Amino acid sequence: MKPKKSFGRKVGCLRCGRKRGIVRRYDLHLCRQCFREVAMDLGFRKYQ
Ligand SMILES: [Zn+2]
Repeated sequence: MKPKKSFGRKVGCLRCGRKRGIVRRYDLHLCRQCFREVAMDLGFRKYQ
């Protein structure tokens, strides 16, 4: 078992640790707010 990689249950957002509104659509495990910031870096402009 690898504690660091086994997120999905207890761990929330990888950036802020928030557990509400996690977006796992792109395997990012980020909350919606952090997802917007990351999405902009990734090139998703429809969230802006
Ligand atoms: Zn976050």
